[in-house]
Amino acid sequence: MTTREKEVLSRRHDDVDVLVIGAGITGIQQLFRAREAGFSVELVEAGDGVGGTWFWNRYPGARFDSESYTYGYLFSKELFDDWEWREHFAGQAEIERYLNHVVDRFDLRRHMRFGARVTSAVFDEAAGRWRVSGDGFVVSAQFVVAATGVLSIPHIPDVPGREAYRGESYHTGLWPTTPVDFTGRRVAVVGTGSSGVQVVPAITSEVASLTVYQRRANWCTPLNNRPITPEEQASLRADFESLREVLNTSIHGFHHPPCDRGTFDDSKEERQAFFEKMWNSPGFTKLTSHYVDLLFDPEANAEWCEFIAGKIRSIVDDPETADKLIPKDHRYGENRPPFVTGYYEAYNAPNVSLVDLPQTPFVRMTETGIETTDRHREFDVVVWATGFDFGTGALARMGIRGRDGVALVDEWADGPRTFLGIQTTGFPNLFFPGGPHAAAGNNPRYNGDQVDFVTELLVHLRDRGYDVVEPDPVSEERWTRMIDKGAAKASFGESSYYFGANIPGKPRKYLLNSGGRPKLFSIIADVRENDYAAFRRSRIAPAARGAR
Ligand code: NAP
Repeated sequence: MTTREKEVLSRRHDDVDVLVIGAGITGIQQLFRAREAGFSVELVEAGDGVGGTWFWNRYPGARFDSESYTYGYLFSKELFDDWEWREHFAGQAEIERYLNHVVDRFDLRRHMRFGARVTSAVFDEAAGRWRVSGDGFVVSAQFVVAATGVLSIPHIPDVPGREAYRGESYHTGLWPTTPVDFTGRRVAVVGTGSSGVQVVPAITSEVASLTVYQRRANWCTPLNNRPITPEEQASLRADFESLREVLNTSIHGFHHPPCDRGTFDDSKEERQAFFEKMWNSPGFTKLTSHYVDLLFDPEANAEWCEFIAGKIRSIVDDPETADKLIPKDHRYGENRPPFVTGYYEAYNAPNVSLVDLPQTPFVRMTETGIETTDRHREFDVVVWATGFDFGTGALARMGIRGRDGVALVDEWADGPRTFLGIQTTGFPNLFFPGGPHAAAGNNPRYNGDQVDFVTELLVHLRDRGYDVVEPDPVSEERWTRMIDKGAAKASFGESSYYFGANIPGKPRKYLLNSGGRPKLFSIIADVRENDYAAFRRSRIAPAARGAR
């Protein structure tokens, strides 16, 4: 630890240079980076432990679907060397252990306050500082980094009579820290997105009965997880620098080699063999190493979908159930595809059944269960795997007020406006890496790029004696227009949560960076070349600086 870092640590921490909100993957990296750069920093976290998404989503079956060693941090070779992931796709418990290990290894816990949910964050223009508070704490900070994530506000649909239900119910994204006992119980799982399809096979063998309520089927393919062999561990260590280089520069933050062909460059037999290879390949390779035209040529996509449909029919014994599990309303990649272990196989168990909601919609919940148009079913436990208020959900719930007391929720009533997906005009010194307008892909890589840029900007401000920063409105306008324009061509459909379509009343706006990582890199390069002129920077009168 440097002398500067020691000096920073010895200060009181309710009055800091940087306040980080959220102890997930992004927040931990921001805390590490800000302290490393010599800022005094504190982190507040609503949960009682480290992990963010990986703290809250501790439902049975929760695990990575990006390779563990590509999802973990790359900022320290020593860290990479001293943590051995057990599986190519680690489960929630291992991930949580890893994040705690990181926090302790770098002595970050002393800067963290748990059980501290932010309910108000107000910018004091005269002082150029934020006053951030919640139950039992108030922090004054020059800069606030809301690392609150895009998938952190659980959504439970308003099924009539939901409050009448007397059994146990849980949302996958708000799972209790004490394990839920499913043994011998009648269980409902509502939702068949990435979370639902992980829960189903994980609890099948314990429950008395499992009923899955599906609104839309998804194109699920095998995760193909397995333990990392000692030989693989050794070569991961030996190849760290080249792996880091690839992950830090590749378009989606994965290390998968791209395919060099289009679908119809291959003969029909070759295509079948290639699809078979894809089916047996790990996780996201089904997108990243697939034929290059998969997402752009409808015919190419349809052929892959037909291949998956064939697999579903061959795995699921009951043809009617198999048919319901085959998506009819979207192409592969139009929704975020889930990767599964034993999901389709689970429907062959005698105690598992599927309810097709478009055929027999919800009528209401009762004290004892769920009624659909065909019948009433009784449950001891209902699991809501019904997704999140994506992108803006967390930022909208923290009482954020910027210049002139303007509320962020009002400013973004028609959808978020950002520059680089890290700041918005009128809310100076507030950053939100990994928030709205982050890119699809291996998230920690992209979010880490943003964190590193935020840190670089903070250092620039300090070096030049600036106190306050916000995007120039022109920069924000251009970035937001780029996103909206690209949204029309985005592979994810307008009916997906990427457009906010899953939340009633939410404006339909693309919530990802449609230009992806290359756009982020190129605009950051421009910003540097133009000496950060894309940001408005200013100084606070010395007298006001003391008034905290
Ligand atoms: P999700 O993808 O939004 O899926 C929500 C599910 O609930 C969908 O099947 C949806 O149906 C259903 N649903 C929503 N409202 C409903 C209603 N009113 N009635 C009936 N069904 C309803 O949420 P998620 O599964 O939690 O996944 C969210 C994201 O988290 C994923 O896309 C992924 O990025 C991430 N995730 C990653 C992993 C991993 O493997 N690493 C695991 C879990 C989650 P519709 O499709 O019809 O809307």
